[in-house]
Amino acid sequence: MNNKRDEGVIKFKLTLKRAPAPEMYQVIALEKWRALFFKLGLVGEYPIDKIGYGNLSCRLTKKNFLITGSQTGHLAHLHAHHYTKVIDCDLKKGSITAEGLVPPSSESLTHYGIYEANPSIQYIFHVHHRPLWDMLMSGPFDYIDESIAYGTPQMAEAAFELLANKSSGIFVMKGHEDGVISYGSTAEEAGKNILDLYRKLAIRQ
Ligand SMILES: [Zn+2]
Repeated sequence: MNNKRDEGVIKFKLTLKRAPAPEMYQVIALEKWRALFFKLGLVGEYPIDKIGYGNLSCRLTKKNFLITGSQTGHLAHLHAHHYTKVIDCDLKKGSITAEGLVPPSSESLTHYGIYEANPSIQYIFHVHHRPLWDMLMSGPFDYIDESIAYGTPQMAEAAFELLANKSSGIFVMKGHEDGVISYGSTAEEAGKNILDLYRKLAIRQ
């Protein structure tokens, strides 16, 4: 396994409070995009190491968001109980408190850092795709530097610099192989940022 690919590894201290799953209406926009991304291979599971990749979230309040559960990448469709509500994060301590039936995505701290960077961001879609990653790596696109570890205070600072004045866009995570992040004030914005580039790639090939 390539050491740049740290999917599925829970790097944070998690407190999971058992609580009812979100309602389906709360995750329907995420689910719609996730199902499409799954079909396109932007969300899924690496076949050899069986590690899931790709995670989607939406903001509920200033500090709370709903995110896909850990190790759900292999599923074409998720139910509401596969989503978990993150209610508190501490980037310095690397800790997360969540409510639901499954642990939140291992990349929840990264999502948290991005929501903190700009209050108008409502949706974050993180996908994996080698050709898309290569395209974004070749620039000129926004990026977070290879030296920055994800889900850390340094990442939150870098996200703030990148996103403080942008409510919609896409950037490449240089130190996170295949990893691309899109964000928007609506699910459509976040989804289209990825889809538009994906289509450009398809035309090129
Ligand atoms: Zn990732």
